[in-house]
Amino acid sequence: MTEIAERQLLYYTDLPKVELHAHLNGSISSNTMKRLVAKKPHLQIQNGMTMIDKGQKRTLEECFEMFRIIHQITDTAEDILLVTKDVIREFAADGVKYLELRSTPRASPTGMTKRMYVETVLEGIRQCKEEELDIDVRFLLAIDRRAGSEIAKETVKLAEDFLHSSDGLVLGLDLSGDPTVGHGKDFMEPLSEAKRSGLKLALHLSEIAGQEEETALLLNLPPDRIGHGTFLCNSSDLVETVKSNQIPLELCLTSNIKGQTVPSFDQHHFGFWYNLGHPSVLCTDDKGVFATDLSLEYQLVASTFNLTSEQVWELSRQAIDYIFAPESVKSHLKEKWTKLKPDVFRHIEGIPN
Ligand SMILES: [Zn+2]
Repeated sequence: MTEIAERQLLYYTDLPKVELHAHLNGSISSNTMKRLVAKKPHLQIQNGMTMIDKGQKRTLEECFEMFRIIHQITDTAEDILLVTKDVIREFAADGVKYLELRSTPRASPTGMTKRMYVETVLEGIRQCKEEELDIDVRFLLAIDRRAGSEIAKETVKLAEDFLHSSDGLVLGLDLSGDPTVGHGKDFMEPLSEAKRSGLKLALHLSEIAGQEEETALLLNLPPDRIGHGTFLCNSSDLVETVKSNQIPLELCLTSNIKGQTVPSFDQHHFGFWYNLGHPSVLCTDDKGVFATDLSLEYQLVASTFNLTSEQVWELSRQAIDYIFAPESVKSHLKEKWTKLKPDVFRHIEGIPN
């Protein structure tokens, strides 16, 4: 690597970042995965079954198959604690200062209940806080589309309990899972109830083509943030609704390329929304599965869309406005950004943009 490339890399790593779309199980690094697999030799998990390396692609269906394998490897509270702490430490090492993790509460035959699952994640967050890592971590409970509306109602109930008892760690809900399964209308009631009770909503919307009707319906809630929104641009009505409600988008480039919902980086819908000046936040989605990190995502966007270092900085700073934590946290983060800026820019001093 040339000296300039090295200094640029440091700029992106030290750039303070906000990560708002990170699925816990998809974020497990290959290092952590090796430790988990070694504990469970009977599962006979081979290298490559849980991660898509550089240059590789998988269909969305294959991606969801990988998650089934990961769930088999993480089926005890002990695993979940280990995974949570490793994932948080890795995000912190990548310069992420504020992180909203999300995960579907999962019961397993090992005796782990859904409540225990959430409690374990929160315990992992608290233990990391004691390590004094420079990262503020919050949690969103995820509703899996495949599981249907009854389970969704239970998840909302669980999230409401934790909203009031987790000291601000649980902030909201996510709707995710295989977009080809189920219909958004099944989730309108539980999601409306969640909103009424003060939970924030981050919904995966229009991840695949042809979901205009479902998306239009769910936009009525309206959600507080949209995950991917890959095919929103196909409908001017949907674009108008998202624009007029100023709903921020969580955009994950590598994920969309490797999952083959976007053909190439330069055709990613980041370009469309960024040019409109619409709130857009770069995120990793599943840094483990897609073998990426948030620094790399910022770098990819900068090189694909020709952003200056100052534009990159603004992109990361504006993300603070779209976090689910309260205003006091936002002001604290903005102060942190201001304090860090000179040191971050020192890395690229004298390098032309
Ligand atoms: Zn996602």
